[in-house]
Amino acid sequence: MLDLHVHLVGHNDREANRENIRAFLDVASRRGLKEIGFADHDYYWEQMNLPLIREVAKDYPHLAVRVGLEAEYRPNEEGRIKHLLEQFPFDFVIGSVHEIEGWAFDIPEEEPLHRKKDADELYRSYFDVVTRAAISGLFTTIGHFDLIKIFGVRPRTDILALADEALTMVADHGLVLEVNTNGRYKPVQEFYPERRLMEEIQRRGIDFTLGSDAHCAEVVGRDIVEASQLLRQIGVHSISGFSRFDKISYSLD
Ligand SMILES: [Zn+2]
Ligand SMILES: [Zn+2]
Repeated sequence: MLDLHVHLVGHNDREANRENIRAFLDVASRRGLKEIGFADHDYYWEQMNLPLIREVAKDYPHLAVRVGLEAEYRPNEEGRIKHLLEQFPFDFVIGSVHEIEGWAFDIPEEEPLHRKKDADELYRSYFDVVTRAAISGLFTTIGHFDLIKIFGVRPRTDILALADEALTMVADHGLVLEVNTNGRYKPVQEFYPERRLMEEIQRRGIDFTLGSDAHCAEVVGRDIVEASQLLRQIGVHSISGFSRFDKISYSLD
């Protein structure tokens, strides 16, 4: 099993030192993961120590330790992300949308505004940005594909129609979508993406990966077994890991 979305420095909560890297890798080993991928938020770039992760990984030969990044996608900032990606030989890059036209919509203080807005408009404006992220060609993975549901606001229009263009672009650009288990611990209390979207993703032949979005070591691998069982139930037989942008397939059977 794998967990390709963990945050070593969290929200600048701890240093990227040997001891803290080991804490994450120890939990990954204990939970029997085959692959773990660090993907700190790009805005903590100055706090990262990516070569040290590769060095400490040598003490964990049974574990494939990947180094990635969770890049904040904003339209017209492609150059900034491209520049970061040139600084290190990453294994994978998650493109995530946490903002719509400067509105950081996923923080708890913003929940009331979600309820004031037209729900369909909310979803349309979110998936527009996700579509652009997919087209950008910068990423291996799109993070928490339906994050806009975080506070449990649901659209009137069918989610498959609202997400259609984004899914088309994800498929056309060979991107992978994660089942991000962290949604279960947000007000919406379910994985990202929801099951109907998972089924549509499977139907379209888009590859999946798995991520806990852990911001501390204890959360590494949380609900990953359950997420992989769910994927199995909807007919997914393998998931993707990454090494230097190449997909590595892991069987779920
Ligand atoms: Zn995120
Ligand atoms: Zn994250």
